[in-house]
Amino acid sequence: MASKNPKEMVSRLRNTFHSGKTRPIEYRVKQLNALLRFFEENTAELAQALKQDLNKSKTESYTLEIDFVANDIKHQLMHIHEWTKPEKISKGLVNLMDSVYILHEPYGVALIIGAWNYPIQVTLGPLVGAISAGNCAVIKPSELSPASSKVIADKLPKYLDNDAYQVFDGGVAETTELLKEKFDYIFYTGSSAVGKIIHAAAAKHLTPTTLELGGKSPVFIDSSTNFDIAAKRIVWGRYINAGQTCIAPDYLLCTKEVQQKIIPAIEKALKQFYGEDPKSSPDYGRIINGRHFERISALLKGCTVAIGGETDEKNKYVAPTVVVNVSPTDGIMQEEIFGPILPIVNVDNAYEAIKFINSKEKPLALYIFSKNSDTINQILENTSAGSVCIDDTILQAAVNGFPFGGVGGSGMGGYHGKFSYETFIHKKPVLHKDSSYLGEKLGSLRYPPYTDKKLHT
Ligand code: NAD
Repeated sequence: MASKNPKEMVSRLRNTFHSGKTRPIEYRVKQLNALLRFFEENTAELAQALKQDLNKSKTESYTLEIDFVANDIKHQLMHIHEWTKPEKISKGLVNLMDSVYILHEPYGVALIIGAWNYPIQVTLGPLVGAISAGNCAVIKPSELSPASSKVIADKLPKYLDNDAYQVFDGGVAETTELLKEKFDYIFYTGSSAVGKIIHAAAAKHLTPTTLELGGKSPVFIDSSTNFDIAAKRIVWGRYINAGQTCIAPDYLLCTKEVQQKIIPAIEKALKQFYGEDPKSSPDYGRIINGRHFERISALLKGCTVAIGGETDEKNKYVAPTVVVNVSPTDGIMQEEIFGPILPIVNVDNAYEAIKFINSKEKPLALYIFSKNSDTINQILENTSAGSVCIDDTILQAAVNGFPFGGVGGSGMGGYHGKFSYETFIHKKPVLHKDSSYLGEKLGSLRYPPYTDKKLHT
């Protein structure tokens, strides 16, 4: 149940924004430090909540959620003074006597809607940028990861300025009401289907949005690759968080010969990571809820299982699974799997793989395993994706200096580091004209009455 009245809450934040309170850099630094303290002082509780929601291991909770955001805060704190300076631009002859610069203006009141799969990272990560850019924000965690959302709702208000940052608890009905309010920016993470609803609601107020969506991220793998290394990296990317990772490899594209080599290598990597029985591994996650368990189990129906395939409804467990003999028209190839199943689709070469990738929505991520630079370049130049990682998976999301985001059906906008800060600012160009006698003389050529002499001066 939503605990707050959306109108009153947004109005309170808007008043704060208009008071100018959130603009000084010292204020932003104070709030960022407070957010960092939230992470430092609640680490154990956050990890416990992630365990409860997703059976997330301590290592994945720290590296991919808690430390991930904490490190971004530190990075932004380190650079905020440099980033917030007015941008100087080079001047043309016409503006030689003028002052020209670009001011970074916070948008105002932002709405951040998070998803449940990385409930800490994708909810509080964007907040870091909203704060460093000087905005107020409403934070809407996902109702599907209740333990993590509760830590955010209970604890965050103890650290941040409540006049500027509010956590809004709620599901679909409450979020629908919330979206009727006018926001100055909306940052949404979740499925493409709901992304369209958010975008339509934003359009009613002409609110700019970032949409961090999902999709089917392909992996192309050819015979030149080192199969043992490739298998470990694909297995890690596909099966962390039980496959519920937006940039997880969704399916493999390879020849039948490559398939014969990669399957035993995947089997070996799975045993190495999760033992003979992944169900008893402390490092293997669970499906978020019964609805998603059913959805994933239904995708498995009728598939030819090469590895895994076991499901256990009571424990919301789906074994790390590989399926073969997959046709492009099969159900499993029609939607993002978002679970621990890896279908292998056979193609004869890179050209066919490109055609296949281009027949679908633009993916959030694209992975290539090959030692052949011509093949790599051919795929890079002829496909579109939010990001690309060659010879590994997932790690492009952790590169300092990379924007993280999709393109086309997988989203719009990118964040992390400086890109998070830039997401939440309007770049306002300011021209300060020289109004001296000489400045006015030079500028007077534009005034009527127009003459040919003025035109050719
Ligand atoms: P979802 O779209 O169902 O829910 C996400 C958020 O939207 C939740 O906070 C939810 O309360 C809200 N919501 C749901 N339905 C709504 C509606 N009708 N109106 C208004 N708000 C609504 O997504 P999900 O199932 O929670 O997340 C899974 C998807 O998110 C996957 O597709 C995954 O790839 C994607 N994802 C993307 C990223 C990224 O950074 N690109 C990160 C994580 C997840």
